[in-house]
Amino acid sequence: MDPFSTAAGWLHENCLIPVLYQLDLMQWEEIGYGWVLVALYGVAQVLLMLAVCWPMERFRRLEHWPDNRAVTVDIFYTLLNRIGVMPLVTFVLFYQLQVWLTGWLTDNGYVPPTLEGIFPWLMGKQWLTLIIYVLILDCADYWRHRLSHRFGWWYALHSVHHAQKQMTFWSDDRNHVLDDVVAFIWFLALGLLIGIPPMQFPVIILILRFLEGMSHANARVSFGAIGERLLISPRFHRAHHGILAAGQKSCNYGATFPFWDILFGTADFSRDYAQTGDPSAPAAMVTGSWWQQQVAGFARLGRALTRRRRGAPARAMPAP
Ligand SMILES: [Zn+2]
Ligand SMILES: [Zn+2]
Repeated sequence: MDPFSTAAGWLHENCLIPVLYQLDLMQWEEIGYGWVLVALYGVAQVLLMLAVCWPMERFRRLEHWPDNRAVTVDIFYTLLNRIGVMPLVTFVLFYQLQVWLTGWLTDNGYVPPTLEGIFPWLMGKQWLTLIIYVLILDCADYWRHRLSHRFGWWYALHSVHHAQKQMTFWSDDRNHVLDDVVAFIWFLALGLLIGIPPMQFPVIILILRFLEGMSHANARVSFGAIGERLLISPRFHRAHHGILAAGQKSCNYGATFPFWDILFGTADFSRDYAQTGDPSAPAAMVTGSWWQQQVAGFARLGRALTRRRRGAPARAMPAP
């Protein structure tokens, strides 16, 4: 058994079960274990980010700010998303929904495919299958992200992520909850099409989530001409968050690999450490509390939808 499962088992048995028992909530016991396990991986992600990105931001720092309140809110987003409520919701919803939906579809004659089922030559080649899964997931994330800039209603939500002027490695999880729900549905649908092995390769997820966090670091870090074309660097992702100059288009939508941006013509390796933020974002979305940012996201969504109903073009707001 890996150390994460062992630690989760111990915490579950010695901390969670006694509490659930006292509160007469023993029906949550199994889900509780899933949450403890996901939360432990979240703790590992945060520790890994701290170990690598904190020195990176200290010694290769790009921007200095007199007031760091906006960063504190991003730390709250990260803890909430990776350790707190979100892993529980994700586990309860994603896992349960996947099990239920798969069961329902199977009962109705639909056999959810797997990658090995579609490509039988992958049978027995676990590592190759895993690499292909990671590439497909990353490509799907590229398109999810790119489309979230394309549609006005979607960008209204995604702008919470872009409103941050003080971008740091904590900013990765700064998202509107509804945007997270849309992403969840996006990957659920993909999982039903190609099958996503649930929690089968958590260490890979840990590394990918770490890389996503690092790409937001407030640091002058590039991977060099070749390295940047293999893995997304803080410099590359900052170009996506950069305030656009006149005539510039949004670029660099990828999360882990830059291949999709190169392939679909949205890569730009020439932009150097621009100022981040979204000039069209309301103040509450920029410097407000977690709650104020969420409310501002809903309000912006409302405006985007009513504009659309009045017949205005359903274009995205100027993408930052
Ligand atoms: Zn974006
Ligand atoms: Zn980002």
